[in-house]
Amino acid sequence: MTEIVDGEALAAEIREGVADAVEQFEGEGVTPGLATVLMEADPASETYVEMKQRDCEEVGIDGIHVEVDPDAPAEELHETIRELNEGTAANGILVQMPVPDHVDAQAVQAAVDPAKDVDGFHPENVGRLMSGEPRFRPCTPHGVQRLLADAGVETEGADVVVVGRSNIVGRPLANLLSRRADDGNATVTLCHSRTADLAAHTRRADVVVAAAGVPEMIDAEMVTPDTTVIDVGINRVERDGESTLVGDADFDDLEGYVDAITPVPGGVGPMTRAMLLYNTVKATREQTGVDVSLP
Ligand code: NAD
Repeated sequence: MTEIVDGEALAAEIREGVADAVEQFEGEGVTPGLATVLMEADPASETYVEMKQRDCEEVGIDGIHVEVDPDAPAEELHETIRELNEGTAANGILVQMPVPDHVDAQAVQAAVDPAKDVDGFHPENVGRLMSGEPRFRPCTPHGVQRLLADAGVETEGADVVVVGRSNIVGRPLANLLSRRADDGNATVTLCHSRTADLAAHTRRADVVVAAAGVPEMIDAEMVTPDTTVIDVGINRVERDGESTLVGDADFDDLEGYVDAITPVPGGVGPMTRAMLLYNTVKATREQTGVDVSLP
């Protein structure tokens, strides 16, 4: 029997915990705020930002949405970020990526106050994570860690193969899982597009985290019945003339074969959203000194 690891249910639990924390803040006269900043006119980005704002509303976080004209000079985005950094309404700031080509994305990430950087992409926060003392864990890697814990997967001493080395998923996740910590202590192999024999790595893994953006690339030939597969991928494909979402793992092939697997949708995606709320509460706690419990 393959365990289907339910990201929706776990995310709902975390949102409940966040709502409790927000209530504790309210008791102290504090309303946590999350600012989303959108510069690129892109339907997917617009949807992501709307979802984040809806999530805020559900748990009582003050959602502040700012749009910057995609044709405006980069300075206008920087001015918006400066105002949010200096103001007290936003405890967390998220600049929705991608930004237009004429804007330097790295400079934008570095412009966000590291204490409000709930994405965890500011160089200072990346450095903290690298040195084993994360302040804000990037949301997707953190969500994966929580899913593994929830599924009862012991990471200590486990062989984990992460497929994909992006700065937002694979690289920070490899770092978190290999650090000396209760939810770390794994032996991590970070695979990528130039890995010579990917299947040779995945076949000896206790856990495979698929984060390559290649539809259904991990199939039963690449894993064993003891493997847990965490599927980060979100890929839109055409099936029988219809557009549908699939992960980087071939769910139909793996269900009934592997030990556990996350579905797409309903696995890592909702956890990424929940961990953004978590980081906003954490940021508010650090900025206000009001000691609420984190979910
Ligand atoms: P990315 O394009 O930045 O990075 C992909 C990585 O995969 C690269 O490091 C590349 O070397 C590696 N790769 C590509 N093809 C490969 C192959 N054939 N074999 C081995 N490695 C290969 O992507 P990303 O932003 O990290 O996102 C990865 C996937 O995860 C995408 O499908 C994205 O939509 C999804 N995603 C989901 C969430 C979520 O919340 N569920 C969050 C972020 C990203």
